[in-house]
Amino acid sequence: MKLAARVGEVTPSLTLAIAAKAKAMKLDGIDVCSFSAGEPDFDTPAHIKAAAQKALDEGKTKYGPAAGEPKLRQAIARKLQNENHLDYNAENVIVTNGGKHSLFNLMLALIEPGDEVIIPAPYWLSYPEMVKLAGGKPVIVQTDAATEYKITPAQLRSAITANTKLFVFNSPCNPTGVVYTPTEIQALAEVIVEQDILVVSDEIYEKIIYDDAKHISIGSLGKEIFARTIVSSGFAKAYSMTGWRLGYLAGAVELIKAVSTIQGHSTSNVCTFAQYGAIAAFEDSQDCVEQMRLAFAERRQVMLERIRAIPGISCAPPNGAFYLFVNISKTGLSSLEFCDSLLETQQVAAVPGIAFGADDHIRLSYATDMASIEKGMDRLHKFVQSQL
Ligand code: PLP
Repeated sequence: MKLAARVGEVTPSLTLAIAAKAKAMKLDGIDVCSFSAGEPDFDTPAHIKAAAQKALDEGKTKYGPAAGEPKLRQAIARKLQNENHLDYNAENVIVTNGGKHSLFNLMLALIEPGDEVIIPAPYWLSYPEMVKLAGGKPVIVQTDAATEYKITPAQLRSAITANTKLFVFNSPCNPTGVVYTPTEIQALAEVIVEQDILVVSDEIYEKIIYDDAKHISIGSLGKEIFARTIVSSGFAKAYSMTGWRLGYLAGAVELIKAVSTIQGHSTSNVCTFAQYGAIAAFEDSQDCVEQMRLAFAERRQVMLERIRAIPGISCAPPNGAFYLFVNISKTGLSSLEFCDSLLETQQVAAVPGIAFGADDHIRLSYATDMASIEKGMDRLHKFVQSQL
C-alpha cells in the first residue's frame, strides 16, 4: 500500500510508546516504577464526574454544535476574562478534543506550505510533528541551561524570517517545568508585536506552579499582543481529566470560525455529556486543583532532593508542571540508551530527552505516588552509579 507522503514526515510519539511499554511490563507482573506519564495519577474530582453523569442521565447524548456546548464556551470565556485578563467572549472560544486537538486544528487552519513556525527546544514533542502534518516548517531554536532553557528575545528575533507565521510559546513548559517571568514574557511580546507574527500560548499547565512563580497570559500584556495571540489549553492536567479529551482554543472570531469548520468536517462536537463535566470543573470549587497542586509540590521536593544526591546527574528546580528535566550528559549515554537500559535493568520508565529535542536529558514525571518515587529513585541511583 502506498501511504501518503505526510505519514513519512512524522515521528510516532515516543512518550506514548514508552508509557505503553511500561504498562505492558506491569501487566506481565513486573514491578515497574513509571516516571513516564504525562498525566496526574489522581481520579477526576467527584463533582466533575457527577455533573457528567447527570448530563448523561438527562439525555445529553446527541450531536451538539461543532464548536461546543454554548454554556461551556461561555464558561471558558468567563474564565479567560476573570483569571487571565483576556477579553474573549464565547464566540472567541472553541471546545476541542483536548489541548493536542486544539493545536493540531490551529496548525491546519493557519499554516500553509512554506510557512515557518518557531519552536523553542526543549519542546513538547507534538509541536513540530503537527507543523509538518500541516505542511509547514518547524524552526527549532535551541535553548540551554545558561538561560534556564528559556528562549531569549534576541534568539526569537533572529529566528524570524519573512516566512515566519507563528511562534509556539509554552509556559509552564513540558518538559522542563520552566515558568517564564512576567518581564521575560513582556520582552518576547515586544518582539512578536515588532515583527508582526502570531503566537500560540499553550497554557495547559497554568495551574500547576510552585514557590513564587506566577502564571501570566502573554495576550494580557496589551492590545497589540492580544490581537496576535491564540490561547490553547485544556482540562486534562489541572483537573485530572486526561481521558475525557477536553480542551479549548481561544482567539480571533475569524480563526475560531475556521477551526469550527474544520471540526465540523472531522470530529464534530466533543462528547456532549463530557462537556458538562468541564462546565462543573470551571464553575464549581477550585479546591481540588489546589489539593493536587500541593501533592505535586511535595513530590517535586522529594524527587529533586533524591536527584541532587545522585552524583553524575543534575537538575534545576522547575517552577511548574510535574516533570524534572534531568541532565545525564556525564554518563556518556544517549538519552535513548539511558532510558532503554534503565527500563531493562532497573524497571524504571523515563522519557528520553531526544523526544523533546535534548538528547543529553531525560524527563521524569512525578505525577505518581510517593512510594513509587522513593523506590524508583533508589533504582535510578543504582543505575547511574553503575554507569560512571
Ligand atoms: N500541551 C502540552 C505542553 C502538553 O504536555 C500536553 C499533554 O501532554 C498537551 C498540550 C495536550 O494535552 P491534552 O490533549 O491531553 O489536553
